[in-house]
Order: sequence, then structure tokens, then C-alpha cells
Amino acid sequence: DRLKAGLQKTKEALVGQVNTVMSVFRKIDDELFDELEEALIRGDVGVTTSSRLVEELRRQARVRGLKNGDELLPLLKELVAERLGSQVAPLNLNEGGLTVILVVGVNGVGKTTTIGKLARHLREDRGMKVILAAADTFRAAAIDQLKVWGERAGVEVVARAEGADPAAVAFDGVQVAKERGADVLIVDTAGRLHNKGHLMDELGKIARVLGREVPGAPHETLLVLDATTGQNAIQQTKLFKEVAGVTGIALTKLDGTAKGGVVVAITDTVQVPVKFIGVGERLDDLQPFDPKQFADALFS
Ligand code: GDP
Repeated sequence: DRLKAGLQKTKEALVGQVNTVMSVFRKIDDELFDELEEALIRGDVGVTTSSRLVEELRRQARVRGLKNGDELLPLLKELVAERLGSQVAPLNLNEGGLTVILVVGVNGVGKTTTIGKLARHLREDRGMKVILAAADTFRAAAIDQLKVWGERAGVEVVARAEGADPAAVAFDGVQVAKERGADVLIVDTAGRLHNKGHLMDELGKIARVLGREVPGAPHETLLVLDATTGQNAIQQTKLFKEVAGVTGIALTKLDGTAKGGVVVAITDTVQVPVKFIGVGERLDDLQPFDPKQFADALFS
């Protein structure tokens, strides 16, 4: 399937290296664990998470009386699946009312594409009526791109001219969503990072307007991250958690990167659930994140 195919390079980088270490060392000893930790770090699992995983592996190997290196792989898979599963949460929906999803992230991570894919998923797979609001008014291209993706996904896009107040576009979005009796409003935002204070003000203002118009909105603040940036994705999560109160992550471009191990690092260290993963450029290349499926695809 697409997940398995997409994760091929990550699998080679991560599980391939781990396998090599295990077959070279065979006997379970300290040297094996040190090499294993190195292999996990090279596989973008992150220093903290790699060390935690190896520590747990060491403990369990002792408890279970394991002797051979190759007995560790199934155990590692179990531990990885467990860590991935620790933060799982579905998309937050406002049952019976309009659900508002605010989408944030740095430019170029795949934000617009992900919004289009998410709109298709909600509309076609879940039968919901979806409206998009183009509140990234900083670049005309961003507004145009969102319109293109809206058309592909078959949903209406609410927009104003370049340079308009993003909060005003968000407000328009709510009004149109209410008029149309929509189930979900997805709001795109600008991802300029050079000024943290400004970003916080802008996202804060949008969130306040949404909250005033729809109780509890935004019900979900989805951070889009690019898996190919590896450990940078962790820094971005910390930043956006602080400025926007992120409630979920969509991790894009997992296909074709060797850095997919970062999913394990993210779920283990930043305590924000990964809710969706992007495995290609097509409209249907967004999948709800399933930790067991992910671990199976990685280790199978
Ligand atoms: P934005 O600036 O964050 O809105 O980024 P875009 O949505 O315009 O996407 C930037 C590039 O990333 C485009 O070329 C997309 O096709 C590509 N992209 C987005 N998601 C994925 C994904 O899951 N896999 C791959 N391979 N490419 C993606």
C-alpha cells in the first residue's frame, strides 16, 4: 500500500541500520546497545527518544532473558508502537455544531496541499460539508493556491484580496459556513517566522474572532510539519505550541524521505498527537495516523 511504499526510505535508514547492528554484533551486550542507540539517532528518532528506547530495550531484554541480537528487533517494534500509540487522538469535532480547524505552519511545509487533502477526506470519506478560508493574505500566490486545491477537493473557498486582515477573512469564513450549513471550516494562515511576536498576535487575533463567532473555536489547531526537515520539525512544534496552542500535527512528505523516524521523536518528546500523515502529492495522499499500521509498515 501507499504507506508502506512511502516509508521505504525511512525503513532502510532506520530499521535497515538497526538490523545491520544486530547482525554484526549478534550477542547482546553494552556495545550492541551503544551501536543501536547511534543507529536510531542516525534514523532521526532523536537523542532523547533513542536513549529512552535503548534503556527500555536493555531492561526488557534482561527481564526476558534474551541472548541474541536478532531477538531485539520484534521487541524494538513493540516499544516503538507503544511510544507512537501514547499520543493518539482523533480530529476534534464540535459534535452538532460547526467545527473550526485552524491550520498553522511555516511556509513550504505543505500547508496548502494538506488543507486540500483534508477537505477531500472530510467531504468524501466522512460526508461532511467543508468550507475553506484563505486567511494567509500575505502572499497572493497563497490565496490562489488555496483556490486551486479547493476546486480539486470540491469545496468552496472564502477569500479577500492580498493584504486583507486575516481575522476579517476568518470572520467571513464563519459567516459563509453558517449560511451554507457547513460542518467544518478550515482556516489557512500565514507562516512567516521572522517575527515570533507578530505571528503570535496574528494567530491570536484570528483565534479570538473564531471563538467569538463559534463557541469553543478553534476546535483544532493543526500544525503542518515537513518530515524532510527532521529534527527541525521538533523545534517548530515547540514554537507553534507556544504561540498558537497546537492540538494536533499533520506530518507531510513522509514519502521519499529517510527521516520518517522523526514521527517517533515527535510523539515521544513534544506531547502533541500526530493526527494525519502526508504520503504523496495527490489529493488522496493524506491518511489519518494509525500508530500500529505505521509500526507495521516500518518493521515488516
Ligand atoms: P505551503 O507553502 O506550506 O502551503 O506548501 P504547499 O502546500 O504549497 O506545498 C509545498 C510543496 O510540497 C508542493 O510541491 C507539494 O506538492 C509538496 N507536498 C505537500 N505535501 C506533500 C507530501 O505529503 N508528499 C510529497 N511528496 N510532497 C508534498
